Amino acid sequence: MHRSLLLIGIDGGTWAVLEPAIQAGCMPFLKSLRDRGVWGVLKSTIPAITPAAWGAFQTGKNPGASGVYDFYCWSAKERKEYPVNSQYLGKTIWQRFSEAGLTCGVLNVPMTYPPRPIRGVVVSGLLTPSLESDFTYPADFKKELLRAVPDYDILTFKKLQKEKITRKTIHNFVEQMAQTVRVRTRAAKYIIQSRNPDVMMVHFQSSDVIQHGLWHFISTDCPEYTPSLQQYVFETFYRTLDSSIEEIVQEFYPNQLGLGGVFLLSDHGFTRHRTRFNLGNWLVQQGYLRICPARILGFPVSELAQRIRLGRILGFLLPPIWHRKVLSRFYPRPVCVDWDWSRVYASGYCNEGFLFVLENDPLKKEMICKIVVEKLLEVNDPATGGKVIEKVYRKEEVFQGAYLDKMPDLVVCPCPGYSITGGYQYEKTLFEPVQLKTDFHLGKHHPDGFFVAAGEGLIRSGGEQANLLDMAPTLLAYMGVPIPSDMDGQVRQEWFEPSFWQWNPIRRIQEEQKETKGEQEVYSPQEAEKVKKRLEELGYL
Ligand SMILES: [Zn+2]
Repeated sequence: MHRSLLLIGIDGGTWAVLEPAIQAGCMPFLKSLRDRGVWGVLKSTIPAITPAAWGAFQTGKNPGASGVYDFYCWSAKERKEYPVNSQYLGKTIWQRFSEAGLTCGVLNVPMTYPPRPIRGVVVSGLLTPSLESDFTYPADFKKELLRAVPDYDILTFKKLQKEKITRKTIHNFVEQMAQTVRVRTRAAKYIIQSRNPDVMMVHFQSSDVIQHGLWHFISTDCPEYTPSLQQYVFETFYRTLDSSIEEIVQEFYPNQLGLGGVFLLSDHGFTRHRTRFNLGNWLVQQGYLRICPARILGFPVSELAQRIRLGRILGFLLPPIWHRKVLSRFYPRPVCVDWDWSRVYASGYCNEGFLFVLENDPLKKEMICKIVVEKLLEVNDPATGGKVIEKVYRKEEVFQGAYLDKMPDLVVCPCPGYSITGGYQYEKTLFEPVQLKTDFHLGKHHPDGFFVAAGEGLIRSGGEQANLLDMAPTLLAYMGVPIPSDMDGQVRQEWFEPSFWQWNPIRRIQEEQKETKGEQEVYSPQEAEKVKKRLEELGYL
């Protein structure tokens, strides 16, 4: 009999919420796991964005090895954005476990669409276009899953528009998110019962959605913090999450944690979101980017429309659908960039910003980078007088690997409270305070995620600091699977009893880094549209 491994992903999971939820008595199972295991902070990737982080987790390599730094990758050659997908990733831990003869069940983990062949089953997660897509491996498992769990869904809002989450509608929203957790738990239990995998990972995305939408109500450092609403969210959502984790653990290990372990982990943490910084608009203001005006009957109309704030005026006069239609004549999407003139392009949606310097000459490129970094670090928010940009990384500082050339030249990390929007925003100034009534991102990502690990060989120790990249080599070592030499993280041997390694020596293999085949055209135009719509619904774009 060999060891088993259960992994539970809590997207955006952070002690900033989990600790008060434990203190409020709403997560007793998490507390019990923590009391008997090793736990602490799990540092996210740079950038701390869901696809980058879960891609790095599954491969054990930094985003430069796959080219995945955001929900979309920008091709400098084609001047076009593509939604990322599983084909970008190199060999995953699921493939490595499979090659070692172990079976896997992988449920709803981001960056697994399209599902790639492994020994076991995959049900893909975030970035899956829809239930109509082939979202399982093997393909016929989809029918079986939907028969066993007819209400299975990837993650969607059914009855609620994102902009309507208020004190009145919060109950509907939280209940939907809790229901998603319950349905996912049934699917997880079905995979465990029917396949009995050696390695099982279940991922919960709704924690991230809840925290984006309701951070101001549940976090004590926000002026809108409301103890009764925090209590409600803890009781309804986090208690459901806790009992679901317990059910899954009990299904996977019916006879207590014997020969195996449970690892709970997140891809990043959370913090308060106060202000958006429009990086694309800053580039225009600084003269690095030029937007072509839309023309109607040959006349450039965008500038005049912006001056009179046409969007606002039409917002009062027209129903939303007509508003969007009419406005798109004046403000085309995607924004039309004057590529011959522009020197720098920005992308990014929800946390860090990404800059591509459109210059082939290395000396000129270096000069532009230097000046842009200096200027960005000097940006002050007129509302507070404070700094906006904490750090700007050159790509070589944070990325290594086969995709270094395709990575953004600069990664712009905002100060606490700020997020960066890369794309040019019509009618917007540089700073946009986050509006409670209209913005769905009232919480934003923070680099500090969390982890808890308990089970065979694991010691009791709190307050540990680890990196998300440490997880892949540690999990492979735990299962006795060889660790490739080019993984970026470290095996966290100190989390285990010293005797554990005597009986389970760590094996390493030399592996040449192979370039992955980043498939840009995985999604049909219709599917790409669905992916975009889903990400927009969730407020991720
Ligand atoms: Zn995430």
